[in-house]
Amino acid sequence: MTEIPLVDLKAQYAALRFEIDVALSRVLDHAEFILGREVSTFESAFARYTGTADCVGVASGTAALKLALLALGVGPGDEVVTAAHTFIATAEAISLVGARPVFADIDEETFTLDPTSVERALTSRTRALIPVHLYGQPVDMDPLLEIARSRNLAVIEDAAQAHGAEYRGRRCGSIGRLACFSFYPGKNLGAYGDAGAVTGNDPVLLDRVRKLRDHGRSSKYEHEVIGHAERMDALQAAVLAVKLRRLDGWTEARRVAASLYSDLLSGIPVEVPREPAYARSVYHLFVIRVRKRDAVLDGLRHRGIGAGVHYPVPLHRQPAYQALGYGSLSLPRTEEAAAEVLSLPIYPEITPDQIGRVVQALRECLR
Ligand SMILES: *Cc1c(COP(=O)(O)O)cnc(C)c1O
Repeated sequence: MTEIPLVDLKAQYAALRFEIDVALSRVLDHAEFILGREVSTFESAFARYTGTADCVGVASGTAALKLALLALGVGPGDEVVTAAHTFIATAEAISLVGARPVFADIDEETFTLDPTSVERALTSRTRALIPVHLYGQPVDMDPLLEIARSRNLAVIEDAAQAHGAEYRGRRCGSIGRLACFSFYPGKNLGAYGDAGAVTGNDPVLLDRVRKLRDHGRSSKYEHEVIGHAERMDALQAAVLAVKLRRLDGWTEARRVAASLYSDLLSGIPVEVPREPAYARSVYHLFVIRVRKRDAVLDGLRHRGIGAGVHYPVPLHRQPAYQALGYGSLSLPRTEEAAAEVLSLPIYPEITPDQIGRVVQALRECLR
Protein backbone atom coordinates (compact mmCIF):
# COMPACT_ATOMS: atom_id res chain seq x y z
CA MET A 1 0.00 0.00 0.00
CA THR A 2 1.15 3.53 -0.73
CA GLU A 3 1.52 5.30 2.60
CA ILE A 4 2.86 8.57 1.25
CA PRO A 5 1.36 9.40 -2.16
CA LEU A 6 3.09 11.41 -4.89
CA VAL A 7 0.29 13.99 -4.67
CA ASP A 8 -2.63 14.15 -2.23
CA LEU A 9 -5.76 15.76 -3.67
CA LYS A 10 -8.01 14.43 -0.91
CA ALA A 11 -6.19 16.40 1.79
CA GLN A 12 -6.75 19.60 -0.17
CA TYR A 13 -10.49 19.04 -0.66
CA ALA A 14 -10.89 18.20 3.03
CA ALA A 15 -9.50 21.64 3.89
CA LEU A 16 -11.70 23.48 1.37
CA ARG A 17 -14.86 21.41 1.39
CA PHE A 18 -17.24 24.12 2.54
CA GLU A 19 -16.10 26.84 0.11
CA ILE A 20 -15.94 24.43 -2.82
CA ASP A 21 -19.37 22.99 -2.13
CA VAL A 22 -20.89 26.49 -1.95
CA ALA A 23 -19.27 27.42 -5.28
CA LEU A 24 -20.45 24.24 -6.98
CA SER A 25 -24.04 24.58 -5.81
CA ARG A 26 -24.07 28.20 -6.98
CA VAL A 27 -23.29 26.95 -10.50
CA LEU A 28 -25.89 24.19 -10.31
CA ASP A 29 -28.44 26.82 -9.25
CA HIS A 30 -27.77 29.37 -11.99
CA ALA A 31 -27.19 26.57 -14.52
CA GLU A 32 -24.86 28.56 -16.75
CA PHE A 33 -22.50 25.68 -17.39
CA ILE A 34 -20.22 26.75 -20.24
CA LEU A 35 -18.27 30.05 -20.16
CA GLY A 36 -20.43 32.79 -18.59
CA ARG A 37 -19.87 34.73 -15.37
CA GLU A 38 -17.91 32.06 -13.49
CA VAL A 39 -15.37 31.79 -16.29
CA SER A 40 -14.97 35.55 -16.75
CA THR A 41 -14.57 36.07 -13.01
CA PHE A 42 -11.82 33.46 -12.91
CA GLU A 43 -10.19 34.86 -16.06
CA SER A 44 -9.89 38.33 -14.53
CA ALA A 45 -8.52 36.93 -11.28
CA PHE A 46 -5.96 34.76 -13.07
CA ALA A 47 -4.85 37.59 -15.37
CA ARG A 48 -4.26 39.70 -12.25
CA TYR A 49 -2.44 36.79 -10.62
CA THR A 50 -0.05 36.30 -13.55
CA GLY A 51 0.40 40.04 -14.07
CA THR A 52 -0.99 39.98 -17.61
CA ALA A 53 -3.57 42.07 -19.42
CA ASP A 54 -5.83 39.13 -20.22
CA CYS A 55 -6.57 35.46 -19.69
CA VAL A 56 -8.75 33.15 -21.79
CA GLY A 57 -10.13 30.06 -20.06
CA VAL A 58 -10.08 26.92 -22.19
CA ALA A 59 -10.82 23.21 -21.89
CA SER A 60 -7.29 21.96 -21.07
CA GLY A 61 -3.62 22.83 -21.16
CA THR A 62 -3.34 21.00 -24.46
CA ALA A 63 -6.15 23.14 -25.90
CA ALA A 64 -4.36 26.25 -24.61
CA LEU A 65 -1.19 25.29 -26.51
CA LYS A 66 -3.11 24.40 -29.67
CA LEU A 67 -5.14 27.61 -29.71
CA ALA A 68 -2.09 29.76 -28.90
CA LEU A 69 -0.25 28.28 -31.90
CA LEU A 70 -3.29 28.79 -34.13
CA ALA A 71 -3.73 32.38 -32.93
CA LEU A 72 -0.11 33.04 -33.93
CA GLY A 73 -0.79 31.55 -37.36
CA VAL A 74 1.50 28.54 -36.89
CA GLY A 75 0.51 25.66 -39.17
CA PRO A 76 1.60 23.28 -41.93
CA GLY A 77 5.14 23.87 -43.19
CA ASP A 78 6.19 25.60 -39.96
CA GLU A 79 8.59 24.34 -37.32
CA VAL A 80 8.41 24.99 -33.59
CA VAL A 81 11.42 24.36 -31.36
CA THR A 82 10.75 22.83 -27.96
CA ALA A 83 12.09 20.29 -25.47
CA ALA A 84 11.71 16.51 -25.68
CA HIS A 85 11.99 16.26 -21.89
CA THR A 86 8.40 17.29 -21.12
CA PHE A 87 4.87 15.94 -21.09
CA ILE A 88 3.81 14.93 -24.59
CA ALA A 89 1.11 17.63 -24.82
CA THR A 90 3.76 20.28 -25.51
CA ALA A 91 4.73 18.61 -28.79
CA GLU A 92 1.31 17.14 -29.51
CA ALA A 93 -0.18 20.63 -29.80
CA ILE A 94 2.46 21.52 -32.40
CA SER A 95 1.70 18.37 -34.38
CA LEU A 96 -2.06 18.88 -34.07
CA VAL A 97 -1.93 22.30 -35.76
CA GLY A 98 -0.01 20.69 -38.63
CA ALA A 99 3.43 22.09 -37.76
CA ARG A 100 6.56 20.08 -36.95
CA PRO A 101 8.07 19.94 -33.48
CA VAL A 102 11.86 20.27 -33.55
CA PHE A 103 13.42 19.03 -30.34
CA ALA A 104 16.37 20.84 -28.77
CA ASP A 105 18.41 19.50 -25.88
CA ILE A 106 18.13 20.67 -22.27
CA ASP A 107 20.47 22.06 -19.67
CA GLU A 108 21.38 19.21 -17.33
CA GLU A 109 20.94 21.21 -14.14
CA THR A 110 17.63 22.92 -14.80
CA PHE A 111 16.06 20.36 -17.16
CA THR A 112 14.92 23.26 -19.36
CA LEU A 113 15.80 24.28 -22.95
CA ASP A 114 19.47 24.97 -23.60
CA PRO A 115 19.80 28.14 -25.75
CA THR A 116 22.84 26.82 -27.63
CA SER A 117 20.95 23.71 -28.64
CA VAL A 118 17.95 25.86 -29.59
CA GLU A 119 20.19 27.95 -31.91
CA ARG A 120 21.32 24.77 -33.63
CA ALA A 121 17.74 23.61 -34.11
CA LEU A 122 16.63 26.76 -35.97
CA THR A 123 15.90 26.64 -39.71
CA SER A 124 14.26 29.00 -42.18
CA ARG A 125 10.96 27.30 -41.28
CA THR A 126 11.15 27.98 -37.53
CA ARG A 127 8.22 30.15 -36.44
CA ALA A 128 8.08 29.79 -32.68
CA LEU A 129 9.78 28.51 -29.52
CA ILE A 130 7.97 26.75 -26.70
CA PRO A 131 10.09 26.76 -23.53
CA VAL A 132 8.61 24.59 -20.76
CA HIS A 133 8.88 25.75 -17.15
CA LEU A 134 9.27 22.13 -16.11
CA TYR A 135 8.65 20.94 -12.53
CA GLY A 136 7.68 24.52 -11.59
CA GLN A 137 11.19 25.79 -12.37
CA PRO A 138 11.26 28.90 -14.60
CA VAL A 139 13.25 28.63 -17.81
CA ASP A 140 16.13 31.11 -18.18
CA MET A 141 14.08 33.21 -20.60
CA ASP A 142 16.42 36.10 -21.52
CA PRO A 143 18.69 34.13 -23.91
CA LEU A 144 15.63 32.58 -25.59
CA LEU A 145 13.85 35.95 -25.88
CA GLU A 146 17.00 37.31 -27.49
CA ILE A 147 17.12 34.45 -30.03
CA ALA A 148 13.42 35.00 -30.75
CA ARG A 149 13.83 38.75 -31.13
CA SER A 150 16.74 38.49 -33.57
CA ARG A 151 14.91 35.90 -35.71
CA ASN A 152 11.40 37.30 -35.34
CA LEU A 153 10.04 34.16 -33.67
CA ALA A 154 7.13 33.97 -31.25
CA VAL A 155 7.76 32.62 -27.77
CA ILE A 156 4.94 30.63 -26.18
CA GLU A 157 5.54 29.68 -22.56
CA ASP A 158 4.35 26.24 -21.50
CA ALA A 159 3.54 27.22 -17.92
CA ALA A 160 1.41 24.13 -17.22
CA GLN A 161 3.60 23.28 -14.22
CA ALA A 162 4.52 26.81 -13.15
CA HIS A 163 1.54 28.68 -11.66
CA GLY A 164 3.02 31.52 -9.63
CA ALA A 165 6.67 30.77 -10.47
CA GLU A 166 8.81 33.85 -11.06
CA TYR A 167 11.57 34.67 -13.49
CA ARG A 168 13.57 37.76 -12.47
CA GLY A 169 10.60 38.97 -10.46
CA ARG A 170 8.04 38.41 -13.23
CA ARG A 171 5.47 35.67 -13.05
CA CYS A 172 5.71 32.82 -15.53
CA GLY A 173 2.89 33.32 -18.00
CA SER A 174 3.67 37.01 -18.48
CA ILE A 175 6.95 36.76 -20.38
CA GLY A 176 6.30 35.27 -23.83
CA ARG A 177 3.92 36.52 -26.57
CA LEU A 178 1.45 34.03 -25.13
CA ALA A 179 1.56 31.52 -22.28
CA CYS A 180 -0.35 28.33 -21.62
CA PHE A 181 -1.53 26.90 -18.33
CA SER A 182 -3.08 23.58 -17.42
CA PHE A 183 -5.44 23.15 -14.48
CA TYR A 184 -5.41 19.36 -14.67
CA PRO A 185 -6.30 18.15 -11.14
CA GLY A 186 -2.74 17.35 -10.07
CA LYS A 187 -1.24 20.68 -11.19
CA ASN A 188 -0.36 23.32 -8.54
CA LEU A 189 -3.68 25.01 -9.34
CA GLY A 190 -5.95 22.11 -10.25
CA ALA A 191 -9.60 21.90 -11.29
CA TYR A 192 -11.90 18.92 -10.66
CA GLY A 193 -11.68 17.88 -14.28
CA ASP A 194 -9.89 19.27 -17.32
CA ALA A 195 -9.25 23.00 -17.73
CA GLY A 196 -6.58 25.36 -19.01
CA ALA A 197 -5.88 28.98 -19.90
CA VAL A 198 -3.94 31.22 -22.26
CA THR A 199 -2.48 34.41 -20.82
CA GLY A 200 -0.73 37.37 -22.43
CA ASN A 201 -0.66 41.08 -23.07
CA ASP A 202 -1.53 41.32 -26.76
CA PRO A 203 -5.27 42.03 -27.08
CA VAL A 204 -5.42 40.99 -30.74
CA LEU A 205 -3.92 37.56 -30.05
CA LEU A 206 -6.06 36.94 -26.98
CA ASP A 207 -9.13 37.96 -28.88
CA ARG A 208 -8.26 35.34 -31.51
CA VAL A 209 -7.87 32.68 -28.82
CA ARG A 210 -11.23 33.74 -27.38
CA LYS A 211 -12.91 33.22 -30.76
CA LEU A 212 -11.06 30.02 -31.56
CA ARG A 213 -12.07 28.33 -28.29
CA ASP A 214 -15.78 28.81 -29.08
CA HIS A 215 -16.54 27.84 -32.69
CA GLY A 216 -14.98 31.00 -34.10
CA ARG A 217 -17.88 32.99 -32.69
CA SER A 218 -17.97 36.76 -32.78
CA SER A 219 -21.61 36.67 -31.61
CA LYS A 220 -24.11 33.91 -30.90
CA TYR A 221 -24.93 33.15 -34.53
CA GLU A 222 -21.95 34.64 -36.29
CA HIS A 223 -18.86 32.51 -36.84
CA GLU A 224 -15.97 34.57 -38.08
CA VAL A 225 -13.44 31.77 -38.40
CA ILE A 226 -13.54 27.98 -38.21
CA GLY A 227 -13.07 27.40 -34.52
CA HIS A 228 -13.07 24.69 -31.89
CA ALA A 229 -15.14 23.51 -28.92
CA GLU A 230 -12.40 24.08 -26.32
CA ARG A 231 -14.17 26.22 -23.70
CA MET A 232 -13.69 26.21 -19.95
CA ASP A 233 -16.77 25.08 -18.08
CA ALA A 234 -18.31 26.97 -15.20
CA LEU A 235 -17.95 24.25 -12.55
CA GLN A 236 -14.19 24.18 -13.15
CA ALA A 237 -13.97 27.99 -13.12
CA ALA A 238 -15.87 28.16 -9.83
CA VAL A 239 -13.49 25.63 -8.22
CA LEU A 240 -10.45 27.40 -9.63
CA ALA A 241 -11.58 30.79 -8.31
CA VAL A 242 -11.81 29.34 -4.78
CA LYS A 243 -8.44 27.62 -5.05
CA LEU A 244 -6.62 30.58 -6.60
CA ARG A 245 -7.04 32.46 -3.32
CA ARG A 246 -5.00 29.74 -1.59
CA LEU A 247 -2.34 29.29 -4.25
CA ASP A 248 0.35 31.52 -2.76
CA GLY A 249 0.02 29.79 0.60
CA TRP A 250 0.29 26.39 -1.07
CA THR A 251 3.35 27.53 -3.03
CA GLU A 252 4.99 28.65 0.21
CA ALA A 253 4.26 25.23 1.75
CA ARG A 254 5.79 23.50 -1.31
CA ARG A 255 8.90 25.67 -1.02
CA VAL A 256 9.26 24.83 2.68
CA ALA A 257 8.89 21.12 1.85
CA ALA A 258 11.48 21.41 -0.95
CA SER A 259 13.93 23.13 1.32
CA LEU A 260 13.51 20.46 4.01
CA TYR A 261 14.08 17.75 1.39
CA SER A 262 17.24 19.51 0.21
CA ASP A 263 18.60 19.74 3.77
CA LEU A 264 17.83 16.12 4.61
CA LEU A 265 19.21 14.86 1.31
CA SER A 266 22.60 16.56 1.63
CA GLY A 267 25.25 13.90 2.06
CA ILE A 268 23.20 11.30 0.19
CA PRO A 269 24.45 10.44 -3.33
CA VAL A 270 21.61 12.12 -5.23
CA GLU A 271 21.38 15.49 -6.94
CA VAL A 272 18.71 17.84 -5.60
CA PRO A 273 17.04 20.62 -7.62
CA ARG A 274 18.99 23.85 -7.74
CA GLU A 275 17.19 27.20 -7.81
CA PRO A 276 19.18 29.61 -10.00
CA ALA A 277 19.41 33.26 -8.92
CA TYR A 278 16.90 34.29 -11.60
CA ALA A 279 14.25 31.83 -10.42
CA ARG A 280 11.59 31.43 -7.81
CA SER A 281 10.43 27.88 -8.33
CA VAL A 282 7.01 26.58 -7.27
CA TYR A 283 8.06 22.91 -6.99
CA HIS A 284 5.23 21.35 -8.92
CA LEU A 285 7.47 18.30 -8.60
CA PHE A 286 10.54 17.69 -6.46
CA VAL A 287 12.83 15.92 -8.88
CA ILE A 288 16.18 14.46 -7.90
CA ARG A 289 18.73 12.69 -10.08
CA VAL A 290 19.94 9.31 -9.01
CA ARG A 291 21.92 6.44 -10.56
CA LYS A 292 20.20 3.07 -10.96
CA ARG A 293 16.96 5.04 -10.84
CA ASP A 294 14.65 2.14 -11.69
CA ALA A 295 15.95 0.01 -8.80
CA VAL A 296 15.59 2.96 -6.40
CA LEU A 297 12.05 3.60 -7.68
CA ASP A 298 11.10 -0.04 -7.07
CA GLY A 299 12.62 0.11 -3.59
CA LEU A 300 10.68 3.26 -2.69
CA ARG A 301 7.40 1.85 -3.96
CA HIS A 302 8.06 -1.34 -2.03
CA ARG A 303 8.38 0.83 1.10
CA GLY A 304 5.05 2.57 0.50
CA ILE A 305 6.48 5.74 -1.02
CA GLY A 306 4.59 7.02 -4.08
CA ALA A 307 7.60 8.13 -6.12
CA GLY A 308 7.26 8.80 -9.86
CA VAL A 309 9.26 9.52 -13.01
CA HIS A 310 8.68 12.66 -15.08
CA TYR A 311 9.36 11.59 -17.75
CA PRO A 312 10.84 8.15 -18.47
CA VAL A 313 10.67 8.29 -22.28
CA PRO A 314 11.78 11.47 -24.12
CA LEU A 315 9.34 12.56 -26.80
CA HIS A 316 11.64 11.74 -29.73
CA ARG A 317 11.76 8.17 -28.39
CA GLN A 318 7.98 7.84 -28.09
CA PRO A 319 6.38 5.45 -30.60
CA ALA A 320 4.19 8.30 -31.92
CA TYR A 321 7.26 10.36 -32.87
CA GLN A 322 9.40 7.38 -33.91
CA ALA A 323 6.68 6.74 -36.48
CA LEU A 324 7.20 10.31 -37.75
CA GLY A 325 10.91 9.78 -38.38
CA TYR A 326 12.49 11.13 -35.19
CA GLY A 327 14.26 7.80 -34.58
CA SER A 328 17.76 8.94 -35.48
CA LEU A 329 17.67 12.13 -33.38
CA SER A 330 20.15 12.16 -30.51
CA LEU A 331 19.67 14.44 -27.48
CA PRO A 332 22.27 13.19 -24.98
CA ARG A 333 21.34 15.38 -22.00
CA THR A 334 17.64 14.71 -22.49
CA GLU A 335 18.27 10.96 -22.64
CA GLU A 336 20.48 11.00 -19.53
CA ALA A 337 17.87 12.98 -17.62
CA ALA A 338 15.11 10.55 -18.61
CA ALA A 339 17.19 7.70 -17.17
CA GLU A 340 18.02 9.42 -13.87
CA VAL A 341 15.10 11.63 -12.78
CA LEU A 342 13.03 10.60 -9.81
CA SER A 343 10.08 12.59 -8.42
CA LEU A 344 9.60 12.43 -4.64
CA PRO A 345 6.19 13.08 -3.04
CA ILE A 346 5.42 16.78 -2.73
CA TYR A 347 2.18 18.65 -2.08
CA PRO A 348 1.32 21.57 0.19
CA GLU A 349 -0.05 19.34 2.97
CA ILE A 350 2.99 17.02 3.18
CA THR A 351 4.35 17.00 6.74
CA PRO A 352 7.98 17.15 7.93
CA ASP A 353 7.46 13.66 9.35
CA GLN A 354 6.38 12.34 5.94
CA ILE A 355 9.38 13.99 4.27
CA GLY A 356 11.63 12.40 6.89
CA ARG A 357 10.17 8.98 6.11
CA VAL A 358 10.67 9.46 2.36
CA VAL A 359 14.31 10.39 2.93
CA GLN A 360 14.84 7.44 5.30
CA ALA A 361 13.36 5.07 2.69
CA LEU A 362 15.61 6.60 0.04
CA ARG A 363 18.68 6.04 2.26
CA GLU A 364 17.73 2.38 2.63
CA CYS A 365 17.29 1.99 -1.13
CA LEU A 366 20.73 3.48 -1.80
CA ARG A 367 22.50 1.30 0.72
C1 LIG B 1 -0.10 18.98 -17.90
C2 LIG B 1 0.77 19.53 -18.97
C3 LIG B 1 0.26 19.91 -20.23
C4 LIG B 1 -1.12 19.59 -20.71
O1 LIG B 1 -2.14 19.96 -19.92
P1 LIG B 1 -3.55 19.20 -19.97
O2 LIG B 1 -4.40 20.13 -19.18
O3 LIG B 1 -3.36 17.87 -19.35
O4 LIG B 1 -3.98 19.11 -21.38
C5 LIG B 1 1.12 20.52 -21.12
N1 LIG B 1 2.41 20.72 -20.82
C6 LIG B 1 2.95 20.34 -19.66
C7 LIG B 1 4.38 20.60 -19.38
C8 LIG B 1 2.14 19.71 -18.70
O5 LIG B 1 2.69 19.31 -17.54
